[in-house]
Amino acid sequence: MKASNMFAPTLREVPAEAEIISHKLMLRAGMLRKTASGVYTYLPLAWRSIRKIEEIVRQEMDAKGGQELLMPAVQPAEIWQESGRWDVYGAELWRVKDRNGRDFCLGPTHEEMISIIFRNDVRSYKQLPQLWYQIQTKYRDERRPRFGLMRSREFIMKDLYSFDLDEAGLAKSYDLMYDAYSRVFARCGLNFRPVEADSGAIGGKGSHEFMALAESGESAILYCDTCDWAATDEIAGREPLPVPAEEMLPVEKVDTPDCGTVEDVAKFLQVPTNRIVKTMYYQADEQLVIALVRGDRRINEIKLQGLLGCNELTLAENAALEVHGQKVGYLGPVGVDGVKIVADAEVPLMFNVIVGANDGERHLLNVNYQRGDFRIDQVADLRYLEEGEQCPHCQGHLKLARGIEVGQIFKLHTKYSDSLHVVYAGEDGQEHPVVMGCYGIGIGRTLAAVVEQCNDADGIIWPMAVAPYQAVIIPVNDREPELKEAAERIYAELETAGVEVVLDDRQERAGVKFKDADLIGYPVRITVGAKALARGNVEVRLRKNGEMQEIALDSLTDWLKAYILVESLY
Ligand code: ATP
Ligand code: MG
Repeated sequence: MKASNMFAPTLREVPAEAEIISHKLMLRAGMLRKTASGVYTYLPLAWRSIRKIEEIVRQEMDAKGGQELLMPAVQPAEIWQESGRWDVYGAELWRVKDRNGRDFCLGPTHEEMISIIFRNDVRSYKQLPQLWYQIQTKYRDERRPRFGLMRSREFIMKDLYSFDLDEAGLAKSYDLMYDAYSRVFARCGLNFRPVEADSGAIGGKGSHEFMALAESGESAILYCDTCDWAATDEIAGREPLPVPAEEMLPVEKVDTPDCGTVEDVAKFLQVPTNRIVKTMYYQADEQLVIALVRGDRRINEIKLQGLLGCNELTLAENAALEVHGQKVGYLGPVGVDGVKIVADAEVPLMFNVIVGANDGERHLLNVNYQRGDFRIDQVADLRYLEEGEQCPHCQGHLKLARGIEVGQIFKLHTKYSDSLHVVYAGEDGQEHPVVMGCYGIGIGRTLAAVVEQCNDADGIIWPMAVAPYQAVIIPVNDREPELKEAAERIYAELETAGVEVVLDDRQERAGVKFKDADLIGYPVRITVGAKALARGNVEVRLRKNGEMQEIALDSLTDWLKAYILVESLY
């Protein structure tokens, strides 16, 4: 490709619409343009990288026995109604009507669709297992599309679905995909970590997310500094540690004026926040619920929602006010009737705690669950783990990191085979529900994650395997016919050798070309200058570390091919 003809509209200025580095760089490097909120055009450079990521994904899926197919984006409402998800998926499901008023959606995922395909055409245990995948455009009407390709409303996903005879078969398919995913992200050059994850709206128990580590990541990960345990903060939990016994003192009511928060109360009473129990009212669908958690802990609403099994969960401060006529900050569980009380597992173990008194600006001291001072209807792990706490599995301590979820794998078990009646005839002649798994990789998000990790002040630093082009040739002065000719010769030779190379033949100063080369991030820059050329050499510079060396013209192609090969290994 000659740069004079290449459509890569680079920008000098940082576009105002971009917040994180990958989004800024992809706009500046002329890779991406916005069409609507969360809807993008991939310009040629981005598309070349996307196709490389897709190819890596294909190779790794095929290596595990995956078969590629392609399903439509448009899905009839009926199959979503049959699975029960039409009503629960919410506003993220992009619903459309046809000219006759029939309901459809633009698929956010394809469990329903693939289940129906299986149901219609697979009969016997002899045909199992099956691993089917596609690389296809998904639609999710995200509440907050942002960060370019990271969280868009139209995006490319690889989704694979496994169909097995039984749980043992699913475990095997799951392990195959775990391995395939690890290989995909390593080949893309990502620094990543698989972590235990919540299975969310997709359903089923057993899931891992693959996290590309990055400060700008939207997900928080807890990992152990000693063993290899890691999990998203959404599901990370541990048994409560034992609490030393204390003598239970008599309950006392004290004035605590102007103490709206746990910190205020702690300061006013001169106690640590871990002596206080927070009382929070939630609206869980139709039901009002009180959740209790230690004062220095954060309640995890995902766990709470899982425990209550509700579709909608919102803080219900107003409801609390109606019940007690009290200020938020002065609520407590003592004497409460007719509202379900759930507590984090640490709470019932505590002694002599402080709670709101439900009586003006007052708190109760020395409240003890173990003495029957208040009621708890259900105890569960309902909090976030914090950095520095002891690991749930060993004596190590927890560390916190941020990550970008580039892929997720789920065991679905028979969630969809039950609701959609997807069965096979077993060896015993009976019908059995097929046991399923699903496995997604965000192709565009993976690209963005690579850029987020691989950059410096000058621009992108592509890992070789996913670079749009492998090398750029820059003649330092186009007006000198000798340099121009030498650059053209090198270009022709490298093209013939199958190297993906750009010749920067634009009528620009060398400085401009160097800047663009760094911004676009070609792994190798070949500079054709008069001095080196007189010695029969060119200057080669590696983008990843700035290393420069002179290489003889007649060994350049072999050197470059070897370098590309080595850099593409993983
Ligand atoms: P998130 O929690 O980030 O919203 P998700 O858990 O809903 O994602 P999955 O249903 O697991 O996503 O989809 C599989 C993969 O698709 C994700 O791991 C991610 O890489 C990608 N993906 C999901 N939503 C988006 C989006 N809005 N834009 C780009 N990629 C996405
Ligand atoms: Mg996910």
